[in-house]
Amino acid sequence: MSALRATRQILQTIAGRGWRSHSSKPAQNLATGKPGAGFSFELTDEQKEFQATARKFAAEEIIPVAAQYDKSGEYPVPLIKRAWELGLMNSHIPESCGGLGLGCFEACLITEELAYGCTGVQTAIEANSLGEMPVIIAGNEHQQKKYLGRMTEEPLMCAYCVTEPGAGSDVAGVKTKAEKKGDEYIINGQKMWITNGGKANWYFLLARTDPDPKAPASKAFTGFIVEADSPGIQIGRKEMNMGQRCSDTRGIVFEDVRVPKENVLIAEGAGFKIAMGAFDKTRPPVAAGAVGLARRALDEATRYALERKTFGKAIVEHQAVSFLLAEMAMKVELARMAYQRAAWEVDIGRRNTYYASIAKAFAGDIANQVATDAVQIFGGNGFNTEYPVEKLMRDAKIYQIYEGTAQIQRMIIAREHVGKFKA
Ligand SMILES: Cc1cc2nc3c(=O)[nH]c(=O)nc-3n(C[C@H](O)[C@H](O)[C@H](O)COP(=O)(O)OP(=O)(O)OC[C@H]3O[C@@H](n4cnc5c(N)ncnc54)[C@H](O)[C@@H]3O)c2cc1C
Repeated sequence: MSALRATRQILQTIAGRGWRSHSSKPAQNLATGKPGAGFSFELTDEQKEFQATARKFAAEEIIPVAAQYDKSGEYPVPLIKRAWELGLMNSHIPESCGGLGLGCFEACLITEELAYGCTGVQTAIEANSLGEMPVIIAGNEHQQKKYLGRMTEEPLMCAYCVTEPGAGSDVAGVKTKAEKKGDEYIINGQKMWITNGGKANWYFLLARTDPDPKAPASKAFTGFIVEADSPGIQIGRKEMNMGQRCSDTRGIVFEDVRVPKENVLIAEGAGFKIAMGAFDKTRPPVAAGAVGLARRALDEATRYALERKTFGKAIVEHQAVSFLLAEMAMKVELARMAYQRAAWEVDIGRRNTYYASIAKAFAGDIANQVATDAVQIFGGNGFNTEYPVEKLMRDAKIYQIYEGTAQIQRMIIAREHVGKFKA
């Protein structure tokens, strides 16, 4: 059974059990009569359905086990399998490959809900989208059917292998090299901080194919699809990170790994643009993940502030605390609008680099501010692992680092903004 059919069946089952949202008709644009075609904050029935399914999954299945996964650092296999069954993973794989073919906007709605449950789980799931995105934007029909198709047949993981020990922000500094020998490329090099590194079935890998150090980045690199069980691949230990501990992050060594030329995306030299182009579509969901975390921190802090009493009244009655909650709420709402705008731009086919970086930078920053404020509202309890907010504070930090740091996003925003004045 295709994943699409299976997911539709599951959604029908969910509807039968009362899981479905009680949505009204989709928002109609007054001018065109089409849902979502104009300025509207109303979600369509299908969007509400995916949001409600993800919300229920997070509340009932992720939240109860999130602290345990954080402690053990174990990879959350049962949750990933369940997310796959519910159609909450790989949502953007085209229907031609057996996927649901959902838009970036829908992916973001789902991601916010999963992140509300646990961003370690959400990052593991989101890393699949990041690994798949180069194949979605640049793969030929055969590559898409082969590598995206298999993700819809069983709950497999993939990974995006770009960062190296010596090159993170400066992607053009990637040293992994690929040399063409006959009908194959021989890959040698080392990748670092690869999410799903030890769990992936295949990798998107960026390697240098032009040895000339003066060759421009836009021509020097090539994007490959690499089977994870290829001889010569050595997967490093699971890294012990500050937060999102159940997510699998590893270094990977590639030693004389042979990749058939059929696994080159587009053509030799096209890799840099593919690797960077993927971010326009994956940064909005990363921002959505940060919003999910911030919303969770706000909810936890609000409930606590209503219960905890000092000086004879609930702490929410102290204006300093309620204003802190107000600031947190403002940040969550605005960051959500930023990711929704960035995702909407993708879905209507416009270049969204500017909006994607604004959403990613802003949501990453506010997730850290809101989680820190939540710890503050919890007082001493906030500093303790028995309460949920210290995990949120640790988990939040990575949103200012991966998929382009907070500083790199500002460089992109400045370049895009100033460019409009120069043009
Ligand atoms: C948990 C985790 C998961 C990850 N998952 C993946 C993955 O799946 N795939 C993958 O390819 N990578 C992944 N990464 C790598 C991540 O994208 C990089 O860590 C990130 O891009 C930063 O690179 P770096 O660590 O080399 O830092 P550096 O590039 O060395 O930067 C160090 C500091 O300098 C700042 N800086 C650098 N250049 C400039 C500049 N020009 N102007 C101003 N400031 C600057 C940075 O913002 C940062 O604060 C992951 C990282 C982590 C920690």
